[in-house]
Amino acid sequence: MTVLKGVGPRNAERLAAIGVETVQDVLFHLPSRYQDRTRVTPIGALRHGDQAVVVGTVEAADIRYGRRRSLLLRLADGSGILTLRFFHFSAAQRSGLVRGTRLLCFGEVRSGPTGLEMVHPEYRPVAEGEAPPLEQSLTPIYPTTEGMHQLSWRTISGRALELLRQQPGRLPEWLPPELRRSYRLPELAEALLFLHRPPPDAPREELLEGRHPAQRRLAFEELLAHQLSLRALRRRQRRAGAPALVGDGRLRRRLLQRLPFQLTGAQQRVTAEIGADLRQERPMMRLVQGDVGSGKTVVAALAALQALEADHQVALMAPTELLAEQHLNSFRRWLEPLGLEVGWLTGRHKGRAREQELQRLASGELRLVVGTHALFQQDVVFQALGLVIIDEQHRFGVHQRMALREKGRTAGATPHQLIMTATPIPRTLAMTAYADLDLSVIDQLPPGRTPVTTVAIPDSRREQVVERVRAACAAGRQAYWVCTLVEESEALQCQAAEETARELTGALPQQRVGLVHGRMKGAEKEAVMAAFESGQLDLLVATTVIEVGVDVPNASLMIIENPERLGLAQLHQLRGRVGRGRVESHCVLMYHPPLTGNAQERLAVMRETTDGFLIARRDLELRGPGEVLGTRQTGEMQFRIADVMRDQPLLEPVQRAAQELLDGHPERVRPLVRRWIGRRERYIDA
Ligand code: ADP
Ligand code: MG
Repeated sequence: MTVLKGVGPRNAERLAAIGVETVQDVLFHLPSRYQDRTRVTPIGALRHGDQAVVVGTVEAADIRYGRRRSLLLRLADGSGILTLRFFHFSAAQRSGLVRGTRLLCFGEVRSGPTGLEMVHPEYRPVAEGEAPPLEQSLTPIYPTTEGMHQLSWRTISGRALELLRQQPGRLPEWLPPELRRSYRLPELAEALLFLHRPPPDAPREELLEGRHPAQRRLAFEELLAHQLSLRALRRRQRRAGAPALVGDGRLRRRLLQRLPFQLTGAQQRVTAEIGADLRQERPMMRLVQGDVGSGKTVVAALAALQALEADHQVALMAPTELLAEQHLNSFRRWLEPLGLEVGWLTGRHKGRAREQELQRLASGELRLVVGTHALFQQDVVFQALGLVIIDEQHRFGVHQRMALREKGRTAGATPHQLIMTATPIPRTLAMTAYADLDLSVIDQLPPGRTPVTTVAIPDSRREQVVERVRAACAAGRQAYWVCTLVEESEALQCQAAEETARELTGALPQQRVGLVHGRMKGAEKEAVMAAFESGQLDLLVATTVIEVGVDVPNASLMIIENPERLGLAQLHQLRGRVGRGRVESHCVLMYHPPLTGNAQERLAVMRETTDGFLIARRDLELRGPGEVLGTRQTGEMQFRIADVMRDQPLLEPVQRAAQELLDGHPERVRPLVRRWIGRRERYIDA
């Protein structure tokens, strides 16, 4: 870093704090906007809000003693008059700003009490007859960091650009000319020189929006590097051996015969895709996306049966105990009649019971186990684990994926992995974020579902809503009442649910009201859920623990309190708990006014559609990809230059370019990836 003149140890430290450690980092730290100091604007042509250079003569200089002492200068250039206002000024400064002085000023113009003015402009005197010193290029304004001034940034980037001109080899061009031509991308060095010092006539609007070809070039390269790194990861992982789980179909056939329904076309297609993967001797890594209620569980069960037919073990993991338990019940209902035992392992299992379960997994006596993260604790050893199924994975960064894979690995062989999610993600984004996975989409709901009707009602009409619950329950249907609170305070959320349950028990004496929340003991929760499922409870008051997976088809009414606190994805998941049976279902979003604009939009989206993909697209627009993919904390989908939303049109071309580069210039792949991701991301280099 200190190869750049002017970067002393102090600045080097400040730069390092924001990850700027090399000359290349400096070059990739792009200006966020520009000022035009390349020409003089006549004062008469200034408008409020402009940032401009003016040259004029001081006609009057007065000190005003108003609310604040200020120095006011009147600057004239023959086309108009501008006031310069200073609140802080030294005696020396003041004596330099006398009548008759010719000044060059740069600043933002605003309308003041006596016409247009600039407050604290940058200025310098210009001698009579001297040409005003102007810049040769637009002035870059850098996203700055604590203690680093724009001037330092400009100096540092200037030095880095100089170095780039003198030694272009420091930053090689890795995109081959034919690729640059076909995607119309300027050269790297050219793009950087342009963006750090655009010529006076550069399109500032386009630059501000990040749509200039020079910016596109850099975003393209960054996305390409990301894509290539995930593909490399994928290739490495495919090289590991896995058991070929061929299976003879005997268990699968028996399950299909016993099911009370036919698989949808989409379920059949995805089951076939998984089946083909499992027969390979390299580990499957497949992500199945399917909207809530699309029937992912039975697809998972069929995959599990294929592994069992091939004499391997299967572990099914769910993110919460409640959800794991639902799976346990489904699997037991479906598989026990086939003579298969389903094991059960969660964090609650301790002592002897746990020991015993572990021992049976290690010996191979137990072939199939359902549970939570407890399944992947260190002392859990399988005799022949062939398939890991992970359901409803929400937080889903590449690091989490890698960690899970590591845990599933036993004695040299990597089990096949199936991941299921109800978070539908637009295809191009999925291909960008999950390039290390194969994708299957269950894009069809089972027949006979009636879309949920959704209304938004202010909480001032709570009594009406309670009445609605009473009517539904009296008609033999069941309802959820969901209490939400900010996620951080689970305790408060549980408390609110308890109060609501008490209140509703009082208000609905004829109805049987149950309560489930995250702080209850597992056995208690189980008992309540079982009672609701079997129809012994009419109304279930719950926190957002029921967000995913809970499946009670007779429940046809859902009240969500304070829906404005939740994101679209979460609302969609919650609402997915109803509309699972044949009766028409309703969802009431009982909000607390006033709503912010963003909240209004979210509730409007919920009223207008039940299409998970549409909702996901709107969610992306409203919250951005980091939130939607659950990777915001890891910073994974946050790029230095690219912006997945803004640069969506690049995502497809980047896929193609990645393949072209791999085919035509494989030797360029590694240095390209290193340039963008190398030092920071563990998964690049493993
Ligand atoms: P999700 O994809 O949200 O996990 P589930 O697997 O819980 O969905 O399935 C939702 C409900 O639909 C369950 O009651 C399940 O038994 C039922 N189901 C699944 N597939 C079909 C189908 N092809 N026809 C009818 N019902 C189905
Ligand atoms: Mg599910």
